[in-house]
Amino acid sequence: DPFASSEGEVPSAAARSGATGRASRQPQYSSALEALHTVYGYDAFRGDQAAIIDQVVEGGDAVVLMPTGGGKSLCYQVPALVREGTGLVVSPLIALMQDQVDALRANGVRAAYLNSTLTAPERVEVERQYVAGELDLLYVAPERLSLQTTRDLLARGTLSVIAIDEAHCVSQWGHDFRPDYLALGDLGEQFPGVPRLALTATATRETHREITERLRMPSAQHFVSSFDRPNIQYRIDPKVDARKQLLSFIRSQPAGSAGIVYALSRKSVDQTAQFLAKQGIDAIAYHAGLDAEVRAAHQSRFLREDGVVVVATIAFGMGIDKPDVRFVAHIDLPKSVEGYYQETGRAGRDGEPAVAWMAYGLGDVVQQRRMIQQSDGDRLFQARKQQHLDAMLALCETVVCRRQNLLAYFGQESAPCGNCDTCLTPPETWDGLVAAQKLMSTIVRLQRERNQSFGAGHLIDILRGKETERTRRFGHDQLSTWGLGQDLSEQDWRSVIRQLLARSLLAPQGEWNTLAVTESSAGVLRGDTPVPLRKDTIGRADKPARARKATASDALGDEDRQLFEKLRAWRSGVAREQGVPAYVVFADA
Ligand code: ADP
Ligand code: MG
Ligand code: ZN
Repeated sequence: DPFASSEGEVPSAAARSGATGRASRQPQYSSALEALHTVYGYDAFRGDQAAIIDQVVEGGDAVVLMPTGGGKSLCYQVPALVREGTGLVVSPLIALMQDQVDALRANGVRAAYLNSTLTAPERVEVERQYVAGELDLLYVAPERLSLQTTRDLLARGTLSVIAIDEAHCVSQWGHDFRPDYLALGDLGEQFPGVPRLALTATATRETHREITERLRMPSAQHFVSSFDRPNIQYRIDPKVDARKQLLSFIRSQPAGSAGIVYALSRKSVDQTAQFLAKQGIDAIAYHAGLDAEVRAAHQSRFLREDGVVVVATIAFGMGIDKPDVRFVAHIDLPKSVEGYYQETGRAGRDGEPAVAWMAYGLGDVVQQRRMIQQSDGDRLFQARKQQHLDAMLALCETVVCRRQNLLAYFGQESAPCGNCDTCLTPPETWDGLVAAQKLMSTIVRLQRERNQSFGAGHLIDILRGKETERTRRFGHDQLSTWGLGQDLSEQDWRSVIRQLLARSLLAPQGEWNTLAVTESSAGVLRGDTPVPLRKDTIGRADKPARARKATASDALGDEDRQLFEKLRAWRSGVAREQGVPAYVVFADA
């Protein structure tokens, strides 16, 4: 180690580790409550905190599932202050580690961290302090714990508790998987008698089980907090023009509301921020492509000033602790319910009313399905991603309470909330079977008879009998479904297609994202699969649903009727027994 000899010349290391001169293994506080009052200045524990801290102080293991902002840090910091020895905290985010250690030192706690940002002499000093029993808390990056040298070091001091924060990183199927977390499973064997805590804000049953198994905590007590954030109002609108809708959403919020707008790409972030700024909103952009100084400046404006709207990629927000964010808006679809929950959870941490608003449309489904199809990774991995997306889509298309749907995803039962768009303005549903059949038979006919496939726009033109250069060029006005879908508006058709895609009754295919039928489509064409659809209404929670002309497909035209008579006749026919998919017969009819 080239720096080892220069150890004595680096006083900053000692300053960084917050040594206060007390070199004692004895705990600083005699009770958890005393630590809470003295160190943090809080009056009382919240939720499960007291029970969790009791369990750990008594020497037991705990698995803690608590939403973001719930107060997980105290659950391991307080036991570390009350028990003899140093609390080891495994934390994956270097920036968060630094923030926490700074905050603890400001409150007189002897805390330090070991990660790649330390110089060698600084590291050596932290190690010395740990062995000498001069630290209450030691934060360590997970990759360090895979090293035998780190394990040896830890064995030379006294551990009071072992906390594994963001424990869902152990889950191979989650989006935050960290291989180094797998190596944490044997900490219990290396340090028997030291209580362990695993903490996460991800609460699916599957992740919960994986954490318990992989971190080998069979005798842990489990603490599952409610994931409900009752002050957040959930709203999801069909996307027509995302930016315009976003603007009117922001304008409908109290003036001076701080908010975060999430978009998928950097380009979209920049353009949206510019658009909002031009409209007089105090909007700034945040993404990894900006200079570090610009990013830091924007972040600090958001934290310090009132009413700033940050337009950002999902890179923004990890560890941002701003209590009075009044809204979180998504103009693109999140990839999973976990992601959506985490991002929307940054709103209203102060408990005051806040809104989680999203615009979601056909293009989002097509794009995300395609991204999964084109992603690297084996089929099982893709299937998992597909499941995550499907759960997110189910939340978008649900006709029952959004919160109920969201909490059910985290294994929590609840009653309709009264504070989401579907509760405030229950959506109407309609029977979309015939519409789906018209669309699917158009797709099948084009495929079978002409070996052609098209995207949503052109298919809608055919169904609505709209003459365009393309329909003329391809002679698509000769198709038997030409003009059969005039009972629905273009926007209605987009809603139909979006919902069929969301349920995998259609799939995007090929380079151009054209639409194809799936195995499940046959059931629809046969008329066996019911297709209840949600009627789209924009701005549900703002105003009562607009009165609308009946757009249901019950008014069939003559041509229509003939066509579907044939389909019905077929249903009782022999083809079915032979297992021939309906659309094949239908296309030949
Ligand atoms: P998590 O890690 O679960 O997201 P944190 O531990 O970062 O949450 O805590 C979130 C916020 O709540 C912090 O500002 C923290 O100081 C505050 N907090 C935690 N416990 C209490 C309490 N008992 N009383 C008041 N504030 C608390
Ligand atoms: Mg935390
Ligand atoms: Zn509700």
